[in-house]
Amino acid sequence: MKMQKNIAVILGDGIGPEVTEAAVKVLEAVQEVTANLKLNLLYGEAGYHCIAEHGTNLPEETIALIKRSDACLKGPMTTPETPGAPVSVAVTLRRMFNLYANVRPCRSFPSVEALKPNLDFVIVRENTEGLYSGVEYELAPGVGVALRIITREASLRIAEFAFKLAEKRRKHLTYVHKGNILRITDGIFKDAVKAVAKKHPSVEVDDLHVDAAAMQLIKKPETFDVIVTTNLFGDILSDEAAQVTGGLGLAAGANIGDSYGMFEPVHGSAPKYTGQNRVNPIAIIMASAMMLDHLGEKNAASKIAKAVTEVLSEGRVKTADLGDSATTTDMANAIAAKI
Ligand code: NAD
Repeated sequence: MKMQKNIAVILGDGIGPEVTEAAVKVLEAVQEVTANLKLNLLYGEAGYHCIAEHGTNLPEETIALIKRSDACLKGPMTTPETPGAPVSVAVTLRRMFNLYANVRPCRSFPSVEALKPNLDFVIVRENTEGLYSGVEYELAPGVGVALRIITREASLRIAEFAFKLAEKRRKHLTYVHKGNILRITDGIFKDAVKAVAKKHPSVEVDDLHVDAAAMQLIKKPETFDVIVTTNLFGDILSDEAAQVTGGLGLAAGANIGDSYGMFEPVHGSAPKYTGQNRVNPIAIIMASAMMLDHLGEKNAASKIAKAVTEVLSEGRVKTADLGDSATTTDMANAIAAKI
């Protein structure tokens, strides 16, 4: 008997709808060829475009729909930058559902230009605090303060997640911080990682200041296996790593908690490409594969990853970011057909 999985699907803003519909096409293809896979897609609204109608970018009905689902596939959204405007939907959902681990695989793909061949590492970013706490004040005109909240509890939790991942991989973990300047906050983070390291003696551990890590990602990206870091550093380093391994159009991310997961591309809503059917949908397609893997559908997940690899290796369908003129739809169709 097929066990149905309820998937909350949020299309988002900008290029969000185009890439998310492409991922849905691929999920439908994999469902057709996978015995016992039954996905029930529940569409919800969220993002910048909701603000005018609902007064919020995350309507209550969407939160209720997410609560009824087993996982969420989320398109990118536009976040307004004026003080007092609704905060990022991604940040709100990460905190609301305690999705404390942001997992961003950084892999080179066949026939895709990358800085070096055969790269394979993962950035694990703390996802609930740090400079994303959203606590900011203007103390006096022209004098602003943002609170970088780092707790031992959240640092221990993300370190444990990262060490467990490293144990399943090449058993090497690099923790990234700026402890020479942020002595208290990153002191707490460093101490937590060192405490967790004692429970995982098979993992080789080293550390880097974030500026040195940014350099090392360009100079010797092949030396990394698992990188664990705080929220903003992880955000910045994972865009850099995406470019090192082939570009934002390919980079997928998972937001994982103890009882729920939300899956999205690393990239944002790229407003200037909205509606042009030209961006690469592979990032969110790979995010949908991570979602199936998280739901225990490993066979279906690997069918998607294999189809993506095959389409890229053949090199016949390439979107603009990969150097040719295939459309978002062409890429989705090629991957779905391969499945
Ligand atoms: P972005 O990631 O949207 O785009 C940066 C550039 O990356 C684009 O101009 C484009 O050249 C390239 N790019 C992105 N996605 C691509 C794809 N699928 N295929 C090919 N090329 C691609 O970053 P931004 O311009 O800084 O942000 C735009 C908006 O997205 C902002 O409002 C930001 O807040 C939001 N954002 C949302 C999320 C999220 O929803 N999780 C994440 C990042 C940014």
